[in-house]
Amino acid sequence: MGKRYQIKIGKIDKKILRLCPKCAGTCDEPKTKNKTICLDSCLHGIDLIKVAIDEGIHACCWDLDNTTVDKMSHSISQFLFRLGVRDK
Ligand SMILES: [Zn+2]
Repeated sequence: MGKRYQIKIGKIDKKILRLCPKCAGTCDEPKTKNKTICLDSCLHGIDLIKVAIDEGIHACCWDLDNTTVDKMSHSISQFLFRLGVRDK
């Protein structure tokens, strides 16, 4: 969709964690300069796949509500996992 993001594997911004303590991934709004998708470095396995898909959907369809994105990323991660997709 012509929107290239920087990818950061590391710690989630403390300001975001204060609002959402369980947050394991973030995606900047597409119009942000140097927009970044950040994935928490403690994510592994299907959790990493799930959060990566979730943030990828946000990047593609910024206006989609979080509940829908959450359901989609959950289902797609299960689907990929059943196909044998693993994180390394
Ligand atoms: Zn989300």
